[in-house]
Amino acid sequence: MAGQRAPAGQVSSSSLPVQGFSAGSQLPPTAQMAEADHFPPTDQLPQDAGQAGPAFDPFLDPTELSAPRPVAQRGTNPSPMPDPDLERRIEETAKATKLTAKVLGFTCARAHPTDPRAAFCTVCGMPVDQTQQLIEVLRPPLGVLVLDDGTTFPVAADAVLGRDPDHSEPARQGLLPWKIEDASGGMSRAHAEIRLANWDVTVVDRGSTNGTRARLPGYRDWIRLQPNQPLTLVFGAEIMLGNRMVRFEPAAPPPFG
Ligand SMILES: [Zn+2]
Repeated sequence: MAGQRAPAGQVSSSSLPVQGFSAGSQLPPTAQMAEADHFPPTDQLPQDAGQAGPAFDPFLDPTELSAPRPVAQRGTNPSPMPDPDLERRIEETAKATKLTAKVLGFTCARAHPTDPRAAFCTVCGMPVDQTQQLIEVLRPPLGVLVLDDGTTFPVAADAVLGRDPDHSEPARQGLLPWKIEDASGGMSRAHAEIRLANWDVTVVDRGSTNGTRARLPGYRDWIRLQPNQPLTLVFGAEIMLGNRMVRFEPAAPPPFG
């Protein structure tokens, strides 16, 4: 009566002095629910479940959880097709988690996390109470890079810029690849990196063949970056890679007067 129906239950009950009243708890839960839906609880099974359920569920649950695992199905599947799309999504998700860096900051009146050194919210432009306590916040995008053709790239995570950065070492390490067309021959495949440090945005030349230049707002001259030496960007700073120019701009609209 008890043993021959539910293998999962038999595993755990084999060493226990289980009597007939365990039959109810060995039924799959769906079967019990179906019974309850269609019939009033007059037959013996729901009664048994009511008696034995609380005592035996702690034993039965683990075995029932482990039993239906489709391990055998994987093994018998002749060709477990790798799903490149799924792998790509997993990779994207892993990268996306890197977007949610936690830093110490302020919040504006609209609860946007914001740079504590800024008088105005870096998200919405509202004034920020400068007397509040620093708290851990999710770092918002710190600005946008605007390419000379108007293409924009939100600065929310470390990125590698170049004419073919997708398969570069930095991209493998999780930096977002930002491909920039350049026919001049002056741009390396993975030319420069944008690296976020706390609330700062820096640009780093990766030892590119032709170097990276930057011009800070208010200056006439371009400076050539030392390879692997980060330069902190301020809004309005321009970066020259090969024959292309990128400008660093605020993500938020300027505040109301
Ligand atoms: Zn705000």
